[in-house]
Amino acid sequence: MARVALVTGGMGGLGEAVCIKLAALGYRVVTTFSPGSKKADTWLGTMREQGFDFKAYACDVSDYDSAQECVRQVEKDVGPIDVLVNNAGITRDMTFKKMDKPNWDLVMKTNLDSVFNMTKPVCDGMVERGWGRIINISSVNGQKGAFGQTNYSAAKAGMHGFTKALALEVARKGVTVNTISPGYIGTKMVMDIPSEVLETKIIPQIPMGRLGKPEEVAGLVAYLSSDEAAFVTGANIAINGGQHMS
Ligand code: NDP
Repeated sequence: MARVALVTGGMGGLGEAVCIKLAALGYRVVTTFSPGSKKADTWLGTMREQGFDFKAYACDVSDYDSAQECVRQVEKDVGPIDVLVNNAGITRDMTFKKMDKPNWDLVMKTNLDSVFNMTKPVCDGMVERGWGRIINISSVNGQKGAFGQTNYSAAKAGMHGFTKALALEVARKGVTVNTISPGYIGTKMVMDIPSEVLETKIIPQIPMGRLGKPEEVAGLVAYLSSDEAAFVTGANIAINGGQHMS
């Protein structure tokens, strides 16, 4: 039976590429969208036209109960989750001087609490079955910090600690836990940055002189999801065109 992969935020730029890649490799792919989002039907239809029969569930990943219910429903409808890609995320950039509590909390809840919320109902089953892959999509800005992103950088850095701690706990159980830290990838999240800032400030910092492609990140997710990656755990893999090397 094909493995089941749950990709949060699969209707976004990176998530879509991940869903397509995993489906092309034979995984049964399920994704989530924010409750109230209007794009699910259109997106599912577009994907169907391209030959991908994804299932999608409304789930607010920042909400513990919503995440539990989503996982319960996915496992009932599709089967036990073998691969969890914690990809959903947001930015609410502002300097620390302007940073208010709601925008701090929203980014922490959506980008970091979500990893706990989604992993919690999935992890025990992976351990019991002796096989699982948990892949957390962090960011270069969680490694090096970024101006105007105290909330985002803190949340994304927190994912690294979570990854390493959980990796230790499940290392002997056939479950790996890894983080991917993309640099700037050409999705809506990045294309929303004013083009002048992109061209004069961001792209010049990237030694390869270009944004990354969602498919390049998806390829890394596919590798970490595979049997071949069984010995890779607790790792943080950078994919950033040379922007940050550590
Ligand atoms: P997008 O904005 O294109 O997609 C983000 C996705 O997250 C959307 O599908 C959105 O769903 C979902 N999402 C947001 N909030 C919630 C929520 N509360 N509950 C459920 N789903 C939610 O971003 P990208 O594809 O560019 O980014 C994907 C991940 O990669 C993020 O974690 C981001 O931080 C990270 N990243 C991206 C980089 C880039 O350059 N693009 C660089 C480094 C990291 P909906 O629209 O339905 O709300």
